[in-house]
Amino acid sequence: MEYDAVIVGAGPAGLMAARKIADKGFSVLILEKNKDLGVRACAEAVSASAFETAEIPPSPSLISNSINGAYIYPPDEKKYVKISGGNYRGYILNKPLFLYALASIAASKGCDIKMQCEVIDVEFSNNRAHYLKYRYKDEWHYVKFKYLIGADGVGSIVARSCKFDMSNYEIIPTIQYVMVNCNIPERDMIRIYLGNEVAPRGYAWIFAKNEYVANVGIGVRGAPAKPYLEKFIESHGDFFKKAKIIKEGGGGVPVGGQLNELVKGNVLLCGDAAGQVIPLTGGGIRSSMEAGKIVGECVAKALEANDSSLLNEYPKRYMNPWGNRISKSLKVLRVFEELSDEDLNALAEVLVGEDVVDLANGLDIKRVAVKLMSHPVLALKIAYKLI
Ligand SMILES: Cc1cc2nc3c(=O)[nH]c(=O)nc-3n(C[C@H](O)[C@H](O)[C@H](O)COP(=O)(O)OP(=O)(O)OC[C@H]3O[C@@H](n4cnc5c(N)ncnc54)[C@H](O)[C@@H]3O)c2cc1C
Repeated sequence: MEYDAVIVGAGPAGLMAARKIADKGFSVLILEKNKDLGVRACAEAVSASAFETAEIPPSPSLISNSINGAYIYPPDEKKYVKISGGNYRGYILNKPLFLYALASIAASKGCDIKMQCEVIDVEFSNNRAHYLKYRYKDEWHYVKFKYLIGADGVGSIVARSCKFDMSNYEIIPTIQYVMVNCNIPERDMIRIYLGNEVAPRGYAWIFAKNEYVANVGIGVRGAPAKPYLEKFIESHGDFFKKAKIIKEGGGGVPVGGQLNELVKGNVLLCGDAAGQVIPLTGGGIRSSMEAGKIVGECVAKALEANDSSLLNEYPKRYMNPWGNRISKSLKVLRVFEELSDEDLNALAEVLVGEDVVDLANGLDIKRVAVKLMSHPVLALKIAYKLI
């Protein structure tokens, strides 16, 4: 059978792309290797605007917890930067149910979804993908398509088989525990911990899901993450003295910025597969959905006009604002990676919540750099490098 479009991966990116293509009446198949959606570990935090991106209301059934802000702790934890206020509202999703909702909408538009189907190879030659091979249980299947979308996350088989330029793809390993019986005050605030002893070139997080459960994790570069998470939990006995680990997971987060190449012939990459994650925060749910939507719209237009050159609209449309945010956040990450614990402690004295949000999300980094100009050390170490 031949589909107008085949999408590999039923994550936030793939499900949004599928909806947009099926919405225009074209045939779409999603192939997902797992038995269930949302299996991969995720801390599940999104800004409130993620629901606008998803084009669904923030129904309580899709949300574990409402978030009113964040505490960012420097290494000495003497002071924290508090982020709060109307603009910084967000949610800890129930991500599997959120993905079910996205899948439900895609299915309602006519999209075909096949679970437990792992794509093993894509036949790619003369700058075109011709068909792919997938395994369902022990059977092999082949499927043809006009357009192929790689929304298959970190380690994308589509990116590898179609030989996309992955030279700037960079992964930070993470590990996360789902913990019960934690003692976390102010559960509407997420907590982020920085420092070279705490999480070298990364951070640790505590995101309460409700009064019973929290996502507790860490991303670390250049060292195994698990010992750092164990140490972090041990050194925060107030929260975790009587807590138990119920689930352990993790995975790579692409923090090297988006790939230079997003479209190749009739193949497009989006989401984690394309490095479309905000590098400093590691947040990729919303930026992946935004990419999936644009990919879906461009593929539908190319199908309508029978003109594959229209796919090239995708990188242009994604660049503003998302591509720009990703590259600005990457710039900040590169500067922050070089900071000592003393520098981070000093930063916590100077920055306020809005500054941290602008830096982390690649928003107004120039404004924050100008603010840091007056600081004798931080001007040299941060401000000049950001401008
Ligand atoms: C520990 C951790 C915590 C995180 N916390 C947050 C957070 O709090 N907030 C946030 O915004 N982001 C977070 N992220 C990042 C976020 O999870 C991703 O950026 C986002 O899910 C990317 O969506 P995606 O659709 O591109 O890829 P994915 O969600 O990875 O989906 C890809 C899908 O493709 C499937 N697939 C892969 N290979 C194949 C194949 N060969 N055949 C068929 N199917 C295949 C996978 O099974 C998967 O379902 C976190 C990531 C990690 C690892």
